[in-house]
Amino acid sequence: MLFVITCGVNEIKDQFPSGSWELRHHPLRDEWVVISAHRQGRPWLGDRVEHGPGEIPVFDSTCYFCPGNPRVSGVVNADYQQVFVFDNDHPCVAMDAPEPGPPANPLYHSQPARGVSRVVCFSPQHNMTMAEMSAKDIDAILLVLQEQFAELAALDTVNHVLMFENKGPVVGVSNPHPHGQIYATSFVFKHIENEVRQSRAHFQQTSRVLLADILDAETADGRRIIWEDEDSLVFIPWFARYAHEVFIAPRKTYPHIHALPDATRRSLAEALRVTLIKLDNLWRMPFPYIMTFHQAPTDGAEYPYFHFHIEFQPPLRQPNLLKYLAGPEIGGGNYLNDTTPEATAAGLKAQAEIHYRHE
Ligand SMILES: [Zn+2]
Repeated sequence: MLFVITCGVNEIKDQFPSGSWELRHHPLRDEWVVISAHRQGRPWLGDRVEHGPGEIPVFDSTCYFCPGNPRVSGVVNADYQQVFVFDNDHPCVAMDAPEPGPPANPLYHSQPARGVSRVVCFSPQHNMTMAEMSAKDIDAILLVLQEQFAELAALDTVNHVLMFENKGPVVGVSNPHPHGQIYATSFVFKHIENEVRQSRAHFQQTSRVLLADILDAETADGRRIIWEDEDSLVFIPWFARYAHEVFIAPRKTYPHIHALPDATRRSLAEALRVTLIKLDNLWRMPFPYIMTFHQAPTDGAEYPYFHFHIEFQPPLRQPNLLKYLAGPEIGGGNYLNDTTPEATAAGLKAQAEIHYRHE
């Protein structure tokens, strides 16, 4: 009987190579990620995401973001040539948000939803995506974001500036016009709060910056690095929660986008360009994702241990298969990754640096 059990364990070891089925600790979030790559091929009878080619025009007269078009608010967009920023017509936070009434129970607390919500149009071209822009044009976007950060962070009410892009219908974006959003809020978003806590603890224990140590670990290993130059690094971290959870980081520590020197900002623009092309080339389709800039709070405190970086959370696990966040992720709060970061990073690294539409 004992022999039979031992045999079963050995069979499992043979079947699943080291690293394909294990718990990996996510140091920036202090949580376990379940790497379960042995499940990737399991049968799937659920929804498939279709991506028809669908010709998108350069200009769409019904688009709220195209130059010269009126928006919901009645305001007419400028006839802009490069990057265009405006206050969101459907703000989630606003400087004139109402004062909430007293809570019904002393257990519950509320605050006015104060802050600034903005939209950043990346290009006047309705059918453009950042993946098809030049590094110079991407750098122009980053430059505008630096200016936005400086302006918004200076506001007393604003304690954090969240900058992000939701791309693709599967993450709820029906308008293809390339754009990102800025939420400058009185509160600090939860993921950033976690990173601050973890980075502060690491700094107190080691006098070192946690994300810089992660960059060193990734460089030393090398298997998950997708692209690098003198100033920045693109990789899928060892503890990735999503199949293609790419991180882009400057090698040196800066707390936020506004602190980046020009050369580093230009390097990040090139890193973004190459990353986005590789993602699109992977399955020869516009790759949907949520891209977030992780930046230190702007509450007046110093954050020498916070290392600015960009994270991608793409929702597809295979070309037409959505990764559903369900019981473990939403219900339990820990992620299951059906792939190994080593394999997905190798797959991305192997992609050409010329966009498939421009071959
Ligand atoms: Zn448009």
